[in-house]
Amino acid sequence: MHPPHLTPDDFLHLTYLSWYDKGSMKKFIVRELEGSVKGLSGSFVPSPQNGICHFCHHMGAVGLFTVDVKTDTKNHNYKALSNYICQDEANCNAHITDTEKLDFLFDYVRGK
Ligand SMILES: [Zn+2]
Repeated sequence: MHPPHLTPDDFLHLTYLSWYDKGSMKKFIVRELEGSVKGLSGSFVPSPQNGICHFCHHMGAVGLFTVDVKTDTKNHNYKALSNYICQDEANCNAHITDTEKLDFLFDYVRGK
């Protein structure tokens, strides 16, 4: 699965872009950070019940997004972080008011 070609200009009106790859069963989240395009991926399991999105704090159709972060390359240790987020990223972008939760997630994945 190759992500669409993106430039920072694509993010003028969007906080983030995301898509689901059925082949790998992973959801990809891409955003503009410090002038370049950064992405992360994780498993995504749609929830049968509506819930509050971790990113935009709105009630709606959500799914459990889990990223695995490597903590120890030698011993193949991972720590997982799971959050319920919107299934519809367009809806999510329309409601998102601050990027604090997204920032945290990206920092977490980058090991900060
Ligand atoms: Zn949302």
